[in-house]
Amino acid sequence: MKNQLILDGKRVATEVKEKLTSRIETLSKKGITPCLATILVGDNSSSATYVRMKGNACERIGITSKQVHLSEQTTTEELLQVIEELNHDNNVHGILLQHPVPSHINERLAFDTIDIDKDVDGVTSLGFGQVAFNQGKFPSCTPAAIMEVLHYYNLPIEGKHAVVIGRSPILGKPISLMLLNENATVTICHSKTENLPEIVKNADIVVAAVGKPEFVQGEWLKEGAVILDAGYNEGNIGDVDYESCLEKAGAITPVPGGIGPVTISMLLKHTVMAAELKAELSPAK
Ligand code: NAP
Repeated sequence: MKNQLILDGKRVATEVKEKLTSRIETLSKKGITPCLATILVGDNSSSATYVRMKGNACERIGITSKQVHLSEQTTTEELLQVIEELNHDNNVHGILLQHPVPSHINERLAFDTIDIDKDVDGVTSLGFGQVAFNQGKFPSCTPAAIMEVLHYYNLPIEGKHAVVIGRSPILGKPISLMLLNENATVTICHSKTENLPEIVKNADIVVAAVGKPEFVQGEWLKEGAVILDAGYNEGNIGDVDYESCLEKAGAITPVPGGIGPVTISMLLKHTVMAAELKAELSPAK
């Protein structure tokens, strides 16, 4: 049996949160408590669970969680007004609008109404543009988590061929740009890509962001490839077939316990950073 590296997201997340503790204390001495406002529209039970988990994660490390729950019938105008109020609330440092909102709401407009300085979830068009220019303060949290894992384990990126499967605005596209900004050679694949297994065969780094359980197969992989599974499907199942990929991979994230916990820690980190920037404290790396 060869020596694969299991990339332990819980460990990475714990270290990220430990580093935040002293920064939260420094803010507290200045009378500032970082605050994340979450907005949930409607009664989708998975979304409600995600919002609750994020709120609990905040409270555990001393970030205030302000939870706004709006009815399914909320109009776009009403939602925009709530966002504007939070934009102007000096005690709120970060705003997270839980995706998806009910289909009658203009979600893109709602995201783009979030003040860029409070866009800790990295959902605004402006924030995306800044990430593309390698100047973003708050990239969206799952791509930020993937980069955090690569950096934590000192896995080489420069010059490597990264294949990203998925091109969503919140995951596939931004992670592709972030890898490119660190000098990977990036191929972006999607549902219309032909010969996907052959493309994946050339990858040193594979990011699975497909939304299909156990989609990526071990037989597609180059021996020793680094596999980052962003997938989170019902039953705690990732987008890669873990058992077969483990046989070929040099390093791999499990599901659960891989990218997921790091994603939440990125949200906390961005909220603390937003509070520091507002207080004109220089944020730690
Ligand atoms: P999404 O918006 O549904 O996007 C899925 C992407 O996969 C699309 O770009 C789609 O291509 C592509 N795709 C679908 N079928 C494909 C196929 N047969 N071959 C190649 N590409 C295919 O999903 P998402 O929001 O990016 O999420 C992706 C996964 O990450 C999901 O499992 C989700 O649960 C998970 N996720 C996890 C976290 C976390 O915190 N860990 C956060 C967010 C999302 P087209 O563009 O052509 O349709």
